Amino acid sequence: MDFKARLNDIKTRIPTGVTLVAVSKMQPQEALLAGLDAGLRVFGENRVQEAQTHWEALKPQYPDLKLHLIGPLQTNKVKDAVALFDVIETVDREKLADALADEMQRQGRSLPCFIQVNIGNEAQKSGVALDSLDALYVHCKTVGLTITGLMCIPPAERDPVPYFKRLAAEARRLALAHISMGMSGDYEAAIAQGATHVRIGSALFGTRQTK
Ligand SMILES: *Cc1c(COP(=O)(O)O)cnc(C)c1O
Repeated sequence: MDFKARLNDIKTRIPTGVTLVAVSKMQPQEALLAGLDAGLRVFGENRVQEAQTHWEALKPQYPDLKLHLIGPLQTNKVKDAVALFDVIETVDREKLADALADEMQRQGRSLPCFIQVNIGNEAQKSGVALDSLDALYVHCKTVGLTITGLMCIPPAERDPVPYFKRLAAEARRLALAHISMGMSGDYEAAIAQGATHVRIGSALFGTRQTK
């Protein structure tokens, strides 16, 4: 299948109301252009610097483009992230929430944010622990950060469904509208559990380049 065929196939599996976040990390510039040409306007990147290389020149040409940061964010990259991205999906600690709120005020840019939850409680994964989610959510509100959803990456090699169910339940409990879960291998399962945003890279653009 070529890009167009893969996109059309994926589109048939995504209901209206669920946003396809096209993950363009480690893809060549031609892949981004093919996506834009096919009408895609929501893209995900997991590194600030690579996102700048990919999008800084293109973004002004596409006023309706929305870039989602889906990777971990260091506080020293917050300034660049706020300048480039439109949604930050990976708020996972108070210090980062503080830095984001300060920088958004400085730049006069108020970006919707999601809290990333470490849904499988894995030592190596970023995301806030479930038992600290409420405290972080309250903190974000206190510092003026707009939280509109939750995001997670379930443990690899395990059935993701129980983790998707749990994230959806937490979002409902907090009355948050957006649920970002599901990637190339499991986005249909995530949609069945209530995902509003699916982050799809390789199933759309093909295997990523290695550095
Ligand atoms: C890379 C990445 C994706 C996309 O992964 P695929 O399996 O290629 O669809 C989704 N979410 C996050 C956070 C990622 O880093």
